[in-house]
Amino acid sequence: MQDKLFIDGQWVSPLLGGMLDVIDPATEKVFHHIPAATSADVDLAVKAARRAFDEGVWPRYTGAQRARFLRAIAEKVREKKDFLARLEVRDNGKPLPEAAWDMDDVAGCFDFYADLAEERDSNPEEAIPLGDVRFDSKVVREPLGVVGAITPWNYPLLMVAWKVAPALAAGCTMVLKPSELCSLTTLELGVIAEDVGLPSGVLNILTGLGVDAGQPITEHPLVDKLAFTGSVATGRKVMISGAQDIKNVSLELGGKSPFVVFADSDIDQAVEWIMFGIFWNQGQVCSATSRVLIEQSVYDRVLARLVEETKKITIGNGLADGTLLGPIVSNGQYDKILAAIARGKAEGATVATGGKRPDGLDSGYFLEPTILTDMGEDAWVWKEEIFGPVVCVKPFRDEADAIRMANDSKYGLAAAVMSKDRARAERVARAFRAGIVWINCSQPTFTDAPWGGYKQSGIGRELGRWGFENYLEVKQITGFSSDAPWGWYIK
Ligand code: NAD
Repeated sequence: MQDKLFIDGQWVSPLLGGMLDVIDPATEKVFHHIPAATSADVDLAVKAARRAFDEGVWPRYTGAQRARFLRAIAEKVREKKDFLARLEVRDNGKPLPEAAWDMDDVAGCFDFYADLAEERDSNPEEAIPLGDVRFDSKVVREPLGVVGAITPWNYPLLMVAWKVAPALAAGCTMVLKPSELCSLTTLELGVIAEDVGLPSGVLNILTGLGVDAGQPITEHPLVDKLAFTGSVATGRKVMISGAQDIKNVSLELGGKSPFVVFADSDIDQAVEWIMFGIFWNQGQVCSATSRVLIEQSVYDRVLARLVEETKKITIGNGLADGTLLGPIVSNGQYDKILAAIARGKAEGATVATGGKRPDGLDSGYFLEPTILTDMGEDAWVWKEEIFGPVVCVKPFRDEADAIRMANDSKYGLAAAVMSKDRARAERVARAFRAGIVWINCSQPTFTDAPWGGYKQSGIGRELGRWGFENYLEVKQITGFSSDAPWGWYIK
């Protein structure tokens, strides 16, 4: 396990900062330490990334040359899958099969953007037809520059891959700061970058606290773009910092996503997708469908079945066989979730199941999967992101009522609808004000399809070709090729 910063191709200790504890959320025990970078380290890393961009080979390579590195990274991730997945579980708490799934997605993401980098070689420019035959114009895409990337702890290496793979494929260089709560697999990506011979300075990794290591990245004048995933509160600060130099900013933020279940749905399927939508990854998912709306006529039936199945979920250490719900990532997050449940109860919500530490699990940040009902539409728990295994359930009258309730949110990341009437499901899908909509499911995510939110859930899109364009500048090159003079000043 690494315990140094990765700057300009070297593993180095922080210039001024100390070390931070790494705690296993299943045991509450410290099992490693990571460096706490400060602005002095950020300055070195940004300057290394700047040199690698302005003077280095990386942006000047062909797409095919860059793709070879990306594919080599994907291959190494696959080779080390078991080690990386287990490390992710110890750092984050998630069940091992989920971490293994994440590692497959990480590798797939690097391969996907390797393909796009190669494709661009065969299609390097786009002619723009102009109304004036004296001119010809074309568009070329160029790497955007030095990217400052800041990522969260819920899918530690996967959220990193969603930024590193397209940015590197595009020819950008990067300074990356993972969450201080889960940095270990990101440091291992540095080891992999070194193993595959990625040129120095192309990828720099700084661990540390948001204020000490993240904020200086957002403020550094030599950074061209900020790519951030995290909470709305931090995203707002990132945007304000970026405004100083008019940096290009993309934000992937939180959500309070609705899941609308119509009475004609298959009840078993609906219950399983509701559970997958909120209990996968302990509900610590930006797109978690944490507000469930059930058509009045089947409300009692669906709720009873949901409670029955939720009570059967096996809770435990993510490394133990059969665990379906691991611990919450940290003590701080655990306390926040308990406070949210208490607030919900104080506002009149009923706890249909869960809401407390499971019997027999006396240490570790374990929490029973929780279902809240009977809250008002203005209740804090109905409106705000809890980011834990807590789902709020309410009935609705009809389609118009469901759409109104679903869209009544400052967020707009995701939404889901269940119905056997596909025409109705499509209609509702289009009515949702959200960037990701699932029909008859919730959460399946594909590298090919765009990811990002409406409203306060963010700006821009990751994944697919949209994620690639995030890291490309658009340049028009327009030529004048007439023998006749322009004729404005000189006739
Ligand atoms: P967070 O905002 O607390 O932290 C995110 C990152 O920002 C961390 O690396 C942190 O160290 C850093 N940071 C904190 N303060 C900073 C500052 N002042 N300047 C620069 N960086 C700073 O979020 P979190 O708790 O790590 O993650 C959970 C949040 O992320 C949830 O709101 C979730 O919905 C969101 N999220 C969104 C997506 C998406 O794709 N939309 C994906 C995953 C998580």
